[in-house]
Amino acid sequence: MKMKNKITIAFILALLVSVLNIKAQMRVHLINVGQGSATLIEFPCAAILVDAGGESNALFNSSDSLKTYLDDFFERRADLNHTLQCVYLTHPHKDHTLGIPVILQSPFVIKNAVTDGLEEGSGKSGQIKLHRAAQDADENNDPNDDIGFEALTTAEIGSSGFTNAVVDPVNCSGINPVIKILWGTSATNPGWNKTAFDNENNHSLVIRIEYGTSSLIITGDLEDIAQSNLIAKYNGTNLLDADVYLVGHHGSKNGSSLNLLNKITPKMALIGMGDPNRKLSWTAWDYGHPNKGILDRLQNKLTETRTSFHVQAGTGKRTFVDYIVSKAIYATGWEHNVLLEADAAGNWHKVESFLVPSLVNINTATLTELQTLPGIGAIKAQAIIDFRTTHGNFTSIDQLDNVPGIGPVTINLLRPYVRL
Ligand SMILES: [Zn+2]
Repeated sequence: MKMKNKITIAFILALLVSVLNIKAQMRVHLINVGQGSATLIEFPCAAILVDAGGESNALFNSSDSLKTYLDDFFERRADLNHTLQCVYLTHPHKDHTLGIPVILQSPFVIKNAVTDGLEEGSGKSGQIKLHRAAQDADENNDPNDDIGFEALTTAEIGSSGFTNAVVDPVNCSGINPVIKILWGTSATNPGWNKTAFDNENNHSLVIRIEYGTSSLIITGDLEDIAQSNLIAKYNGTNLLDADVYLVGHHGSKNGSSLNLLNKITPKMALIGMGDPNRKLSWTAWDYGHPNKGILDRLQNKLTETRTSFHVQAGTGKRTFVDYIVSKAIYATGWEHNVLLEADAAGNWHKVESFLVPSLVNINTATLTELQTLPGIGAIKAQAIIDFRTTHGNFTSIDQLDNVPGIGPVTINLLRPYVRL
């Protein structure tokens, strides 16, 4: 065969592979719900949601952020008909359940729900609402609105994890994802002290998601003591080993033991936490998230890197030090919404945040949030804040033309990503 023909065939094959790869992807959307957690996982044929946090105060409304993100997402994935194949709540704390009323409302449709079954804790209201919705849908005479439901205890979960049609309702042709629950409520005390046993964090669902050989593990807010039991339960299996780790307990110092990280051996890490610049109660600033010791551990263990990035690392409640992240750690408190993409062969990459369908409010966004916009670095972000401080709120997006350094080209670049 002539060299030219060989090149043409190779080119067509490469093109075909790349087209097929585009379809065969799992995407992990870490939605910025401030201090809290909400992770949307997108497959070629479905979407699921793990937790629906988070932060609600004078400066941030997580339910608005969650709704905006889901609206944008389902606009892009109109084929999914606003359907969440399953909603998983790791545990009934407010920073994980506050947005439940948003997803129980039209146009969203929930097909299945999995929780740890508890109806106590700061976020019990959201968890109870989800339990009742499943019950009510079951009791009326319309089989079309039924919500499959599982409340899982650790005792019911075997040494290879728990799965069934409720826990894993996703059936994509080609590469079919595998979803398993590895931990749930401990109905009897495994030998912890009373404080640890009474703490809902230690009864968090642990969720493992595989897409081909790509994998993600979510441990909720499980603390060190329960992590030891989790590790013992899966000793001798590779069920804790995952490419991407959704960092436990928002990067709190008790959320990611060294033993657990040694089992996970993650390539990349995601942290759901708030912007440490919001200096109010119940925020990342209040808790000192993420903890410097945990960032040190992740820096040590992660195998993938990112361009060096300056952040604030917590050394205690409300105290932070400057810190440089150079491993693949991405956090909502630093960069707004985060989107990771995996093929079925264990290859992960971060999709640049300005491609994420999220809208930044130019009248309320923080310095960090403004910097997630295309063409906006620290100087222009500060100029936007200075302008609105001096002249009051923007009344149109075109008004950005009056901000030093921003012209019509940048405004057109920004237009799809900003709102007032
Ligand atoms: Zn939490």
